[in-house]
Amino acid sequence: MDLPAMQAEVRKVNLDKGWWDEEVLFPEAMALLHTEIAEASDAWRRWGTDDATGKHSPEWTDGLPKPEGVGSEFADILIRLLDDDERYGIRLAEKMASYHGAFSISDSFLTNMNTLHTQTAWASVLWESGSPEFDQVTWAGYLTRVLAFTMQLAEHYGIDLMREYRRKVAYNKTRPYRHGGKRK
Ligand SMILES: [Mg+2]
Repeated sequence: MDLPAMQAEVRKVNLDKGWWDEEVLFPEAMALLHTEIAEASDAWRRWGTDDATGKHSPEWTDGLPKPEGVGSEFADILIRLLDDDERYGIRLAEKMASYHGAFSISDSFLTNMNTLHTQTAWASVLWESGSPEFDQVTWAGYLTRVLAFTMQLAEHYGIDLMREYRRKVAYNKTRPYRHGGKRK
């Protein structure tokens, strides 16, 4: 599955689940992206890079356990970025090639997560400092880095990101409208 097909799938699931009912401001989207990166940090603190699905009092929806672990949070980062691309026009598919394998990976997992936070923060700074249309190359470049580095990390830690993506999207399809009333 390529990025445009995944983006269309994420758009449909998010529309169905009410995530497009109201506007999400760009800084709000960045806060939500930081949350997923922080969830990956927290998953690593608890389980290392293991798949923890179903291993601790899991949430179940329609017979599917909630996917848990670093791999699932990496999938959430991917899903968020695909949704952000739909909303703000990152153009991930056309930019990804230039960043493939471009980052040095630290031995420290949390240092790698900090790099993702920093890249996300740069996107916010650049969005706020100019005209989003005029500066598309700069802020969108940093969000593309977030995806490229997440993909590189998944490979490094032996995580099958596409499998995690499919599992998380399947789970999200079973979740209630706005996941039971979340604001954003
Ligand atoms: Mg998450």
